[in-house]
Amino acid sequence: MQIRPTMKVVTDDVLTRITNCGKIHRKNITSHTVDVSKTLTFSVAPLIDQTTGTNERYIFEGPAKFDGIEVKSDIKGTVEFMRIDEGFNVSVQNMEIKVGLNCEKCLKPISQTVKIAHIEKNFLLHEPEKINDLNDLYLVETKHMTIDLTEALRQEIILHFPAVQVCSTGCKGICPKCGTDLNKKKCKCKIETEEDTSHKPLAGLKKLLK
Ligand SMILES: [Zn+2]
Ligand SMILES: [Zn+2]
Repeated sequence: MQIRPTMKVVTDDVLTRITNCGKIHRKNITSHTVDVSKTLTFSVAPLIDQTTGTNERYIFEGPAKFDGIEVKSDIKGTVEFMRIDEGFNVSVQNMEIKVGLNCEKCLKPISQTVKIAHIEKNFLLHEPEKINDLNDLYLVETKHMTIDLTEALRQEIILHFPAVQVCSTGCKGICPKCGTDLNKKKCKCKIETEEDTSHKPLAGLKKLLK
């Protein structure tokens, strides 16, 4: 396997094209398409004896499993491993995965795509003497010289869940009194509209004054 020195200037456009068609468009990129159908584990053995700054890039695509995430599509992206003194700098780019969620308003299952432009983590060869945050400590599996991205990606995917999780912008939600899905039919409960709710303190005041 040929390993080339670091190349840094890769525009997002180039990366996108790599990801979309799975082919390499630029000659100076050492990319290997890998099947991640079993695990998101990559071998860094070819890099271990290289000088710092040496890197390898992979395009990955395949089914993945993450604890606590309902995965609805293959995961895909590119990953670059760069030898640094302490181990490896790992940079994941243009990662994409579809996840299953529930509409916040009507609770209907929906799926949304989580796209992450850039994730960067260091994977260390040795556990440091001082550990500040165990959740942010990533180690190289030194017996086989592999890096497992599963946990690092799992955390990032959860962090990048869409802020608003609704089935549609016009979702009417569920009646809080009778549980009717208001997208399907109306119910007879008297519910304050959103406008009323925002004036609730005043409404309460009116009642007190009566
Ligand atoms: Zn909804
Ligand atoms: Zn109702």
